[in-house]
Amino acid sequence: MTTPDLATPAGDGGHSAADLDRAARSAGQSELLDQYARDYPQGPHDKPQSMCPAFGSLRVGLRMKRVATVLSGSACCVYGLTFVSHFYGARRSVGYVPFDSESLVTGKLFEDIREAVHKLADPDRFDAIVVTNLCVPTASGVPLRLLPDEIDGVRIVGIDVPGFGVPTHAEAKDVLAGAMLNYARKEIEAGPSQGSMMAA
Ligand code: SF4
Repeated sequence: MTTPDLATPAGDGGHSAADLDRAARSAGQSELLDQYARDYPQGPHDKPQSMCPAFGSLRVGLRMKRVATVLSGSACCVYGLTFVSHFYGARRSVGYVPFDSESLVTGKLFEDIREAVHKLADPDRFDAIVVTNLCVPTASGVPLRLLPDEIDGVRIVGIDVPGFGVPTHAEAKDVLAGAMLNYARKEIEAGPSQGSMMAA
């Protein structure tokens, strides 16, 4: 199976959802995509009438106090997402880790994300950092699950929110809420010495 060169837009101005789905599966993301297909069945809503579905989770992240958001994705996607975030009054920065073909295929993008998270993890400013893989990094299998769970008490939550697997804003909100609840449940199970994200 050939994997499309995801960092370079296809001749028609972009990659199709089928291309990205195929690439994600060859990058080892089949389990994630199958779970999304069970959680978010495809239907008329999988041809979005609105802008990027990931805006749903980005907007929720931007509304939480002491939470920083970092996007990993194509510059054009991030431009659209930050533009709309500020249109809706985000009033704070959206972090961005850019990539090119080389950093995508060599794994350097993941190293860059990890470095960015370490720089940002200041417990005086944040309780949590949400890192979001958009379509291309998800399709390339950038492994956010390998980020540290926590740096100096700042929780690190990595999520994959590709438009080809999570078709609507509402479902993208679910992905972030689910990841944060999962994190909180682990903290609660670990016992009272740990702070709970639910109290953050
Ligand atoms: S992240 Fe995916 S769905 Fe969102 S704008 Fe980019 S290509 Fe479209």
